[in-house]
This record gives sequence, C-alpha cells and structure tokens, in this order.
Amino acid sequence: MALCEVCGEKPAVKRVRLEGTVLDACEKCSRGGSELPRMPERLAAPKAVSRSFEGEALTLVPNFSKLVRNAREARELTREQVARELREKESVIARTERGTTPPIPVARKLEKFFKIKLLEIYEKKKFEFKESGDEDLTLGDVLRVK
Ligand SMILES: [Zn+2]
Repeated sequence: MALCEVCGEKPAVKRVRLEGTVLDACEKCSRGGSELPRMPERLAAPKAVSRSFEGEALTLVPNFSKLVRNAREARELTREQVARELREKESVIARTERGTTPPIPVARKLEKFFKIKLLEIYEKKKFEFKESGDEDLTLGDVLRVK
C-alpha cells in the first residue's frame, strides 16, 4: 500500500483532489479534498503530462524551474542532496532547474519536499458527448464583463 502523499505517514486509502492536485491520501488528509475514483496503477504513467482518471491533464506552472531552484537554495541544499532525498537522479533535478519539464511523479516529490506548488490542471475534459460550441459566451457577454 502506498503511503499518503500529503503526510507521508499513513497508508493512502483514497484518491482525492486537494487544491487542484490529485493525490493519494490517508483517511485524515483526504477530508479536505474531493474524492475521486482510484486510478489503475498503469495509468499513472510517468509522463510530462499525466491524464488522470477523470480526464484532467496536469502541467507544470510556467516558472517551475525557478521555484525549484529558489526553494533548494533557500534550504541551502545541493542538487545532489535533493536528488538523494527524493531518490531521483541528480541529472533530473539539474534538468528541472534548467527548465526541462520533469515527469509528473518527480514534480510531485519536489512539491512535497519543498512545499511548493508546481503542478496545475491545464485542461479539464468532461466525459460528456456534447459538442462544446460557443453557446455559453457570446461576444456581447465578453464585452459586458468589465
Ligand atoms: Zn495523510
């Protein structure tokens, strides 16, 4: 059983959405989030963009490399130390700081380790077989929003 991605102490029992991020959390930590169906392990693929079970695609915030670097330097840690803590290769950390998008699981580890936010949902695809036209927002609506 995987450990809770929030506290890292108790076994994760639920997949929840917390502050826009999908996490496996323990009973206690999942309370603040909305519960999602569990994703089969094989779908949790380590890709730059990971699509969750309900069709959300995650991406990294635009300034992720700076955030990671600043967070690391604030703690006075070397890339090697960070890599060891996260059980990742130093090159992954170095590439991330240079602006190469890390795999989502690495980004999650960095988020948790530094307590920073690196992932955001950039697309929410609904399981609705409906043509999404521009019926909701007309030019008139746009112009009224001031
Ligand atoms: Zn927890």
